[in-house]
Amino acid sequence: MYKVGITGGIGSGKTTVCKVFEVLGIPVFYADAVAKEIMVTDKILIEGIKTTFGNLSYFEDGRLNNKHIASIVFNNESELIKLNALVHPAVFRAFDVWEAQVSPEVPYTLKEAALLFESESYKMVDTTILVTAPLQIKLDRVTARDGVATDQVKARMDKQLSDDEKIKMANHFIINDEAHSIIQQVLALHKQFLEIAANSHS
Ligand code: ATP
Repeated sequence: MYKVGITGGIGSGKTTVCKVFEVLGIPVFYADAVAKEIMVTDKILIEGIKTTFGNLSYFEDGRLNNKHIASIVFNNESELIKLNALVHPAVFRAFDVWEAQVSPEVPYTLKEAALLFESESYKMVDTTILVTAPLQIKLDRVTARDGVATDQVKARMDKQLSDDEKIKMANHFIINDEAHSIIQQVLALHKQFLEIAANSHS
């Protein structure tokens, strides 16, 4: 099945754009939400995390000890690489399981991942969309949505590739500022993907 990866910086509106695709009947795999979920359900991943970061990584009732993990990986690149090396393959496995149960009637699927280009994820899809918005709009959206300070949002942004880097890697773009309609842009891309999917079946 034709696979489309979608990403964008914090507050760019990638989840909002995905909701529009969902309205059109396109199933969306939300990689970041799945990653959080499988950290407490995937036995292989849980064992890997305990072996690498210690038994303190989980509370006795099975919940993830976020503070413990964060204290190890925060500002420690090599430890973060170790965590990603455990989590990313588990998310890829979860995507394969998810995709296998998608109806064959569906023309294409969407994989939403904040770190599509920072991880190997973009190599596992057929094409990619980058959602962009001006910095100030992104900051306003996230501070309003999460009730956090601008500096905190900027610190989170600094951990991701810049839009300039991602623009070089993406195949399609959706501009989510106040001057452009995301609905029109989604409809235009949907039309293109339907044509590609139809041709690949003929
Ligand atoms: P994150 O990476 O932080 O999860 P995101 O890229 O998925 O962010 P969203 O959660 O989709 O971004 O959007 C951030 C906030 O901005 C949300 O509260 C959303 O409702 C709002 N938003 C996004 N796009 C628009 C828009 N075009 N008009 C109005 N509000 C928007």
